Amino acid sequence: MSGIDDLPPLREVIATHGLAARKSLGQNFLLDLNLTAKIARQAGDLSQTDVLEIGPGPGGLTRGLLASGARKVLAIEKDSRCIPALAEIAAAYPDRLEIIEGDALEIDPLRHLTPPIRVAANLPYNVGTELLVRWLTPERWPPYWQSLTLMFQREVADRIVAQPGSKAYGRLAVLAQWRSEARIVMSLPPGAFTPPPKVSSAVVHLTALPKPRFDADAGILSRVVAAAFNQRRKMLRAALKGLAPDIEDRLIAAGLKPTDRAEQIPLEGFCALARQFDT
Ligand code: SAM
Repeated sequence: MSGIDDLPPLREVIATHGLAARKSLGQNFLLDLNLTAKIARQAGDLSQTDVLEIGPGPGGLTRGLLASGARKVLAIEKDSRCIPALAEIAAAYPDRLEIIEGDALEIDPLRHLTPPIRVAANLPYNVGTELLVRWLTPERWPPYWQSLTLMFQREVADRIVAQPGSKAYGRLAVLAQWRSEARIVMSLPPGAFTPPPKVSSAVVHLTALPKPRFDADAGILSRVVAAAFNQRRKMLRAALKGLAPDIEDRLIAAGLKPTDRAEQIPLEGFCALARQFDT
């Protein structure tokens, strides 16, 4: 017999393995297994799927993912103290959990996983945005992942799903919505975590679209959007003048007004502008 119920409660795991949370690693743990099971369910049907989990910590979400039937989970964790705790989970789910001790920014998950692949994680806040941007900006599309189910600080989640004209609209909204469908599927108060962070959190579910909503080169679009939102509230022609001396002509060719501000430009406009830089 094996399964989630054979393993000790997470508070006990933390005490046994001395896993006092470290702020430098962005450690805010989820210890309620009902909650981690609920987050795992947001990732969709995992029965025929490999799952990449970044930052499993003591393994609450890992247990949820395995219990909900994931074919295999690859868990990448930087904190060596967590590895023995995760090994206990691996023993309860033979051949279904692979643990890698290391930095998720430096490991190629494709060497360990077989498609179809979904990603699920309660991300460390210090690398969460960087990982998301990497998942969203590969040159080739569709990407290796079918969906991303990710916990972020509420403010970051709001930026991912933001619409033009709103304060939260910026680089993350454009990159996320260009080639995926992004929704906030759960909101969590600080008290859901141990220790509680200062701010609320939310789970965002992103599904990769079969093809981008509008044509554009990923690298060019990334650069255009980064420059456009780097100087918020500036007119586009001023914010983007470093990209090309004739930026005003390119903006007009893309159907944009050089006096517009980035906050007002819909996704389609940024893609049209990126196409003006195609060689
Ligand atoms: N998934 C666990 C949970 O929900 O309780 C822990 C989430 S905690 C917010 C983030 C985890 O990411 C920590 O366990 C931390 O050690 C780990 N971590 C931090 N930076 C990392 C990195 N660069 N690569 C892999 N894991 C990292």
